[in-house]
Amino acid sequence: MNILLIGPPGAGKGSQAEKLVSQKAFKHLSTGDLFRKALREKTPLGLKAGSYVDRGALVPDSITIGLVEEALGDFTGNVIFDGFPRTVPQSEALDQFLQKRDQKLDHVISLEVSDDVVLRRLTGRRWAPQSGKIYHVDFNPPKNSGKCDETGEELAIRSDDRPEVVQSRLKNFREITWPLLKHYKIRGILKEVNGEGAPEKIFQSIVSFLK
Ligand code: AMP
Repeated sequence: MNILLIGPPGAGKGSQAEKLVSQKAFKHLSTGDLFRKALREKTPLGLKAGSYVDRGALVPDSITIGLVEEALGDFTGNVIFDGFPRTVPQSEALDQFLQKRDQKLDHVISLEVSDDVVLRRLTGRRWAPQSGKIYHVDFNPPKNSGKCDETGEELAIRSDDRPEVVQSRLKNFREITWPLLKHYKIRGILKEVNGEGAPEKIFQSIVSFLK
């Protein structure tokens, strides 16, 4: 089964994907995580993608599609796509990619969250650059203030969580990614889920839908 989690920044795609992965045999493919890892390690991909990620712009399709193809390699198991596709060409590339493996995108779960909630969530979001773990100062604080539970490293604000960058990420979502939802609705594979409640409750709605 291949699932896409789609929603604005801060909708909780990453957290819900992690919960699904911990309960079911899925590979979690997050293009945002892959870009941040490449940036941290200063790989050629990181150097190409860095300026886009930092200012909240979409990385060009050719780079992003290449990254996903490389990350999946010859993996043919269940995948949760998180943050990919975000554009029409990416969605077409994914369909072709899956078709070649006699697979398809089975479900698209849209986490619906208002702009106000996005802003509130992202202002308090903190992350651990090495482990990639995400926290929130109020909703999901670390055990020791300002430190990652796993690695003990100092938590930081993601460069793209700055308010002016968040606005541009939201705009990209509404203008470029949102139209994909209509396309998936017509295909009959879209499930809209209220993404504003407690994470556990949202997770239960996703799981009962997938059952
Ligand atoms: P995310 O963690 O999913 O919010 O992604 C963080 C950033 O990575 C985005 O603001 C983009 O700059 C870049 N990015 C992630 N996924 C994509 C994608 N599918 N297409 C283009 N850029 C992406």
